[in-house]
Parts: sequence; structure tokens; C-alpha cells
Amino acid sequence: MQFIDLQAQYKHLKSKIDARIQTVLDHGKYIMGPEVFEFEEILSDYVGVKHVISCANGTDALQLALMAMEIGPGDAVFCPTFTFFASAEAITFVGATPIFVDADVTTYNICPVDLEKHILKAKDKGKYNLKAIMAVDLFGLPANYPEIQSLADKYQLMIIEDAAQGFGGSINGQMAGSFGTIATTSFFPAKPLGCYGDGGAIFTDNDKHAELIRSLRVHGKGSDKYDNIRIGMNSRLDTIQAAILLEKLSAFPDELIARQIAAEKYNKELSMYNDIVTPYVPDGYTSSWAQYTIKSENRDSYMKKYKEKDVPTVIYYETCMHQQTAFKGLENITDEFSRAESLSKSVFSLPMHGYMDN
Ligand SMILES: *Cc1c(COP(=O)(O)O)cnc(C)c1O
Repeated sequence: MQFIDLQAQYKHLKSKIDARIQTVLDHGKYIMGPEVFEFEEILSDYVGVKHVISCANGTDALQLALMAMEIGPGDAVFCPTFTFFASAEAITFVGATPIFVDADVTTYNICPVDLEKHILKAKDKGKYNLKAIMAVDLFGLPANYPEIQSLADKYQLMIIEDAAQGFGGSINGQMAGSFGTIATTSFFPAKPLGCYGDGGAIFTDNDKHAELIRSLRVHGKGSDKYDNIRIGMNSRLDTIQAAILLEKLSAFPDELIARQIAAEKYNKELSMYNDIVTPYVPDGYTSSWAQYTIKSENRDSYMKKYKEKDVPTVIYYETCMHQQTAFKGLENITDEFSRAESLSKSVFSLPMHGYMDN
């Protein structure tokens, strides 16, 4: 059995995807071809935001968002310690300082109570300009944006939604990718909406940010790519990937339903084990089930039993950001992150995709 069965999906969509790729080979516009703009438009309708700017991957998407917000040296950005490395990496890469925040005990997302504690502490110290909160929709579940937004308003911070895993999730009908000042996602093959290589996108309703990001993704272009008015990046979504994503996006709503059904089946079957905690989804929230992640004090023995049955399991994440070697110099890593640390010792994820059989 596969952890994420990309082949099953390809079999299902093969004729459509093959035809889309062939179209690109025929017209030959490999960079910024028509499929890129078609995909951006359909994606903006799906998520419900004014602007979608595609780019080369989800990490670049975060970096482009931070650059557009003019976040850099001397600034600080709050982000969860229980996340994938890229979230915190992008903050550091633009020269800003990440301030880590502990996880919520039930959702595993950034904890708003601990967030406010860290905001007050950092304000008190006065060492950095406090600029933004980077919230991550971990395992597919949107972070607590109602609470995060009220803290952002109270302390005048911007919000970046890292929806690399959350794409497809929602809160009371509002789609992941539409929260905060700028949101980002990744089309890495194993993400809820994945392409056949690297890809990413940035979402915003703000015209100024959108215009800046369109320039930044093509070497800081002005009127054309040989008129360079700022320092940017080379970060474009390949036309072939956009063509593949057009077909994958049209199958995506059905896949979300299939993931939901699989998650409910897991919940039901696992409810009889009293040493396993199944995922918690608050009222009004839907998860895209990027991962189906359970928690148990007996993780090792369960993982071993699954392995014996040829069921692959993976630990996301064994190392919190405050424990990463790359962040060794940061002051905030000595704070208490007891919930994130306990999660890193007890969670593991089961196979999940849109083509699972009973
Ligand atoms: C995958 C991921 C990213 C980075 O996406 P890439 O396309 O691999 O660069 C960023 N943040 C989170 C939470 C992710 O899961």
C-alpha cells in the first residue's frame, strides 16, 4: 500500500493530463504560456481571492510574500514551532527573525494564547519591529484565523497564511488561501493539490502586493523583463505544470470528498483504541486532510504493527523548529514549547489520498 498513491490518481486522469501536456508541447510556450494564466484565473475563483500569482514552489511563495510585505532585517515574524522547516526558513532567508510559538493542544496549529504571550514578551523587549504572524494550516486544517485576526488587529500585525497543506480546507465556507494579508500554497506532488514537479502560488486581495509579487517573480521586472526596477527572483510556475494542475484542479473537489470519507472511516475504526487520539476538527472547519495524523503514547509499537501489515506510516514532525540546528542562534528557542515537543514524540500519519479503497 502507498502512503500517497499518485499513480492511482494519474490512472484516473491520464487521458486528460496527457492531452494537456501534448497541447503545451505543440504550442511550445514553456515559460508563462497561456495555461499559467488560465490556471491562475480558475484558482482565484476557487479560493475566492482577487489575485493569484503562481510561482516555482511553496517556499518561494512564502519568500515572495515576505518580500512584498517589505519584511527584512530588524523585523520579527511569529510562526509555529510545530511545522515544516520552510515556514521558518523563509522568514530567516529574507533577513527577519522568526519568533516561535507553541502548538494548540487540540488542533496542533499555532496556539493563539501562546501567540499573544510571545507578542507581549517581544514588545516588552523592544528588540525587533514586530511585523507579521505566519500561521500554518497544519495537516490540512486551517489555523484559528478568527482569533489570529483579532490579535493581528490588536497589535497591528500582518498575517501570512501558509496553506501549503491547507489548500482545500475552509472555515465556515471561507476557503484556505483567503485568510490573512497574503496566503501561499505549494503544488509539491504530495500536497493536497500537487503537480508533477515543483510549483506554488500566492493569494491576495491587495492590488499593490499583487503587482509587486508579479514583478518580484520575474527578476523585479518593470514594463518588461529587461526593465528591472527592483531586485527580485526567478520563480515562475512552468507551463507544463500549470497544464497538469488545470486537470488536477477540476478533479480536486471529488478528491476532497473521497479524503473526507477516508478520514471518517479512520475516525470510526480507530475510536475503539483508547490510547489513540484521532484528529480534532473544530465546528465550522473542514480539513483538506493533507495528512491523517493520530497521536499515541504507544507510537513505536503502533508504527511497528502497521509496518508488519505493509501499511506505511510517517512522522510529521519529529523535530520542532526551536530544536533545529539551523536555528541554534535564536534567543526564543529556550522558551517553553511543551505541547509541540510532546506532539513531536507522539504523532504519526497514516496513508491518505483521494483514491483509497475500502
Ligand atoms: C510543503 C510545505 C512548504 C514548502 O513547499 P515547497 O513547494 O516544497 O517549497 C511550506 N510550508 C509548509 C507547511 C509545507 O508543508
